[in-house]
Amino acid sequence: MSQLGTASNPFRVAIIGAGPSGFYAADHLLKQKDLVVEVDMYDRLPTPYGLVRGGVAPDHQKIKSVTKAYDRIAAHPNFRFYGHVEFGKDLMRDDLARFYHAIIYATGAQTDRRMGIPGEDLPGSHPATEFVAWYNAHPDYRELTFDLSQEAVAVVGMGNVAMDVIRILARTPEELEKTDIADYALEALRHSRVKRIYMLGRRGPAQAAFTNPEIKELGEMQDAEVIVPPDEVRLDPLSEEFIRSGEDRSAEKNVQILTQYSLQASQGKSRQIITRFLVSPVELIGTERVEAVKIVKNELYRAEDGSLRPRPTDQYEVIPVGLVFRSVGYHGVPLPGVPFYEKWGVIPNDQGRVLTDAKNGQQVTGDYVVGWIKRGPSGIIGTNKPDSVETVERLLEDQRAGNVLNPDTPSREAVENLLKERGVAFVTYDDWQVLDEIETRRGAELGRPRLKFSRVEDMLEAIHEAPQPDPAGD
Ligand code: NAP
Repeated sequence: MSQLGTASNPFRVAIIGAGPSGFYAADHLLKQKDLVVEVDMYDRLPTPYGLVRGGVAPDHQKIKSVTKAYDRIAAHPNFRFYGHVEFGKDLMRDDLARFYHAIIYATGAQTDRRMGIPGEDLPGSHPATEFVAWYNAHPDYRELTFDLSQEAVAVVGMGNVAMDVIRILARTPEELEKTDIADYALEALRHSRVKRIYMLGRRGPAQAAFTNPEIKELGEMQDAEVIVPPDEVRLDPLSEEFIRSGEDRSAEKNVQILTQYSLQASQGKSRQIITRFLVSPVELIGTERVEAVKIVKNELYRAEDGSLRPRPTDQYEVIPVGLVFRSVGYHGVPLPGVPFYEKWGVIPNDQGRVLTDAKNGQQVTGDYVVGWIKRGPSGIIGTNKPDSVETVERLLEDQRAGNVLNPDTPSREAVENLLKERGVAFVTYDDWQVLDEIETRRGAELGRPRLKFSRVEDMLEAIHEAPQPDPAGD
């Protein structure tokens, strides 16, 4: 056979997961000048884009325009999309080793971290990740229900996901109508009686994880206002020293924005977002469902690594709330046949090379990882670009050293035949573009950016019913 990485014997890579990190990995592979690479991207959903579709808030449409770049990557003649194919069910790791020289896992972090407190599983207590997936029309979450008849809600955590959840709870139906929020979520939120949203942060205003535009945006909504009691922005000596050092401009700006909120008189808007810093939930109270959250007041201390960490005092408080969203971080999910480090929720790796174990593990030949399942759930969409490039560079080094898999049938036909044999109705990128066109058309009819499909059956049916492209091009 001719040399690997040539037109007659391309270097074949499978990417599992069609989110940003997967696309950036595909892009870097396909840009190689001296190596002919074929990339096959798999996703268990018929739709690509991962968290850009299922995570980015519907009122952040501009951020979603990054998908145009992904469409350009997908247009490369050596790129194929196999949607509606689940790794670990429809295709196993051993199957892929028959068709590919390397596999890149780009599955993100699909579940949530827990608070580990009594009452966490009471009805009315939800992971923010599920609410996010629900309002974004993710098929696995569309049947969930959230009791929006409650007037008081607590959101635990002060990251940007918490900000997204708070905005979606606080926006008016008129604001939400302009977005691509799931139709059923829009309908449920129209009837929302939520009035007070408590934002609970375990550390102080100088340590909040949200970024400047996000905290600013909370104060720019039609019928919601941010209430920062003056005591809340008073910095403790350690935080004051930290802010004065000027080492974190973003934290400094966050404190400024919060201080401005604390000085504002109430505007009498219908919904209030109330900040509570330096508190940790210790229990969710309720018999049949959540009725209140018990919090402990924290104080900050300097940890050995120099960071300011919270520790509980002996002061407790009970806030009546009927709904709690914990937004304390995402957590990765293990993949069948792939090593996993449960503590961090990641696939153990060294610069993207999968290792058998997080501590002193051996490299798993042919396996690589990118994105949140590589480094944990942090960073914005763009953070994934250099992260994926790093992994692909290591992969290419291994390819040059001949340290990759040795598939017996490295061809698209072989993999497609296996999928067909197994009765897997895979969805192509052309199919996705049919769905995309229908969603945008249906949205435009309502003056919205898109109206999303939220059921896999409906997506498959729409693809099936769409007119087939004319092979003659007429
Ligand atoms: P995050 O930024 O890591 O924030 C997690 C929050 O949970 C922090 O406030 C953290 O507090 C708190 N927390 C963690 N464990 C806790 C516990 N046991 N009890 C109470 N609080 C706890 O995570 P995220 O909000 O899930 O966001 C994930 C990533 O996506 C971030 O990098 C984020 O910036 C990004 N993102 C960006 C956007 C955007 O650009 N608009 C939107 C959404 C998400 P500590 O700080 O004390 O640990």
